Amino acid sequence: MKNHAIVIGGGHNGLVAAAYLARAGRKVLVLERRHVLGGAAVTEEIFPGFHVSVCSYVVSLLRPEIIRDLDLPRHGLEILPLDGTFTPMPSGDYLWRVNDHAKTRREIARHSKLDAEAYDEYGKAMVEMARFVKPILNMTPPDPMSLDPRELRKLLFLGKRFRALPDGDRYNQVQLMTMSAVDFLDQWFETDVLKATMSASGIIGTFQGVRSPGTAYVLLHHYMGEIDGAFRSWGFARGGTGAISHAIAAAAREAGVEIRTEAPVARISVKNGRASGVVLANGDELSADLVLSSVDPNLTFLKFMDADRELPADFVEEIRRYKYRGSSGKVNLALDALPNFTCLPGEGPHLRGAISISPGVDYMERAYDQAKYGEFSRRPYMDMVIPTLTDPSIAPPGKHILSCFVQYAPYHLKGRAEALPHTGARSGAAQPHTGAHLQDRQSGAGLQPCDWDDQREAFGDTVIDTIAEYAPNIRDIILHRQVLTPLDLERDFGLTEGNIFQGELSLEQLFFARPVPGWAQYKTPVRNLWMCGSATHPGGGIMGAPGRNAALRILGHTR
Ligand SMILES: Cc1cc2nc3c(=O)[nH]c(=O)nc-3n(C[C@H](O)[C@H](O)[C@H](O)COP(=O)(O)OP(=O)(O)OC[C@H]3O[C@@H](n4cnc5c(N)ncnc54)[C@H](O)[C@@H]3O)c2cc1C
Repeated sequence: MKNHAIVIGGGHNGLVAAAYLARAGRKVLVLERRHVLGGAAVTEEIFPGFHVSVCSYVVSLLRPEIIRDLDLPRHGLEILPLDGTFTPMPSGDYLWRVNDHAKTRREIARHSKLDAEAYDEYGKAMVEMARFVKPILNMTPPDPMSLDPRELRKLLFLGKRFRALPDGDRYNQVQLMTMSAVDFLDQWFETDVLKATMSASGIIGTFQGVRSPGTAYVLLHHYMGEIDGAFRSWGFARGGTGAISHAIAAAAREAGVEIRTEAPVARISVKNGRASGVVLANGDELSADLVLSSVDPNLTFLKFMDADRELPADFVEEIRRYKYRGSSGKVNLALDALPNFTCLPGEGPHLRGAISISPGVDYMERAYDQAKYGEFSRRPYMDMVIPTLTDPSIAPPGKHILSCFVQYAPYHLKGRAEALPHTGARSGAAQPHTGAHLQDRQSGAGLQPCDWDDQREAFGDTVIDTIAEYAPNIRDIILHRQVLTPLDLERDFGLTEGNIFQGELSLEQLFFARPVPGWAQYKTPVRNLWMCGSATHPGGGIMGAPGRNAALRILGHTR
């Protein structure tokens, strides 16, 4: 029987879209390139006995509607709380914010009494801002150029919500849209380490610095999560982030979805301006009424199609302009024991939350300065977690996993002449890289994108050296390490230029401009071809909203 819909990609968004379509009675087939489901929300046993969240490592943004509609707890989803953020400082001091508000207030007061007071006000203001933006997550963005009354109604809805905000919050909202994370935080706080750690959420997944205008808004994106109704709380999925994808896949299968792994799509078949199915890399042709692509626009339009023949030229122009500019890497360590931080020695609860290497605003900005000129940061910003303290089941008894998200690691490195020598053996998957997609897109002038194969181990060493400045025992306790550069994220996970969100999460690429202006409503210029991944509104993170919004839009559209 012919499929009603084929979904390209078995990441969590593709699976969510498939589940919603199948629950509405459609026959759906999901095709995943890798041997394992989940995309960037994946758990893999990369070292014997260590089940690692290879890419994404914490969850907060997953929409409660999806958890409810798909009954994910029944399909095995369990979220365990992540308590707080610990920032060690080179001075031997630290900042440790926890979910207990009174404790955090006392801790901040140790650094500045004024900041402790401002922290309450800031928290309230951000919750208000998040409340304003939240309903937008579940909506198909309006097309501001359209005179269709339905589109105008959506714009009116937004205008009314904005007007309903108290005056102060209206100004805050405008500031969030225009200011840098640090400028915004400067208005509230004076403690350098507090501002540095808080500003970090403004730059994750972007090629911008904490002082770049527009990064304040990204702070809000990371503030919108909730777990069990608690705003801005983050957690671990028991079994790693792959467990989230597996729970969604189980719900999808229960609704009748067929899921195939090791089934890479090579082409989207287009006949007379309509998508009619896909061709797999092995040459198999599969037909369907609809094709949904959960991969990024580069793969969807420039790789899987003959863009110049099958797409309007102005659309192709916009798609080529869409910015990826991966700026992060990931280092996953299997440990024999826990890291011992000089500023707070021992195995305390400070190790159970996020550990942030963000000791000061200048430190963060200097990390960006190096990346701007084509080098990875010699002292990077890092967000680390030790999930084994909360979920020991993912490692052998007594052993631990240290997951290090690292920024900045620009996809475009300077040429080989300036390459650093590397120490240590190679790690991480490495296959020949053609950089072919760069022929389709603009690349950084004068930069050679292939140097990461030479730099992988030097990058890994930098990460370890940086940790060792705060926890000197780290080198003695490493059993295995996996170093993922932006190039590895591109090769292994299909993330163009290694952007963790399938395209930069910067203001000009959000809402009605994601992925490109005029095409933010999940449909594409090719009839029956839809987008449903992180490159669509509301963007990246383990959220599921793009997949759900796209499916609901399709169901409304085809009803
Ligand atoms: C290193 C890293 C750390 C992150 N940390 C966090 C975090 O802690 N918390 C958080 O909320 N978010 C985090 N993110 C972001 C988040 O993981 C992603 O935004 C999200 O998982 C993307 O989901 P998706 O389904 O839209 O796309 P993807 O996960 O990119 O899924 C697309 C799928 O398509 C498949 N595919 C590619 N090409 C083909 C083909 N030719 N044929 C068939 N299938 C194909 C891919 O293999 C993949 O499975 C992180 C991402 C990375 C990379």
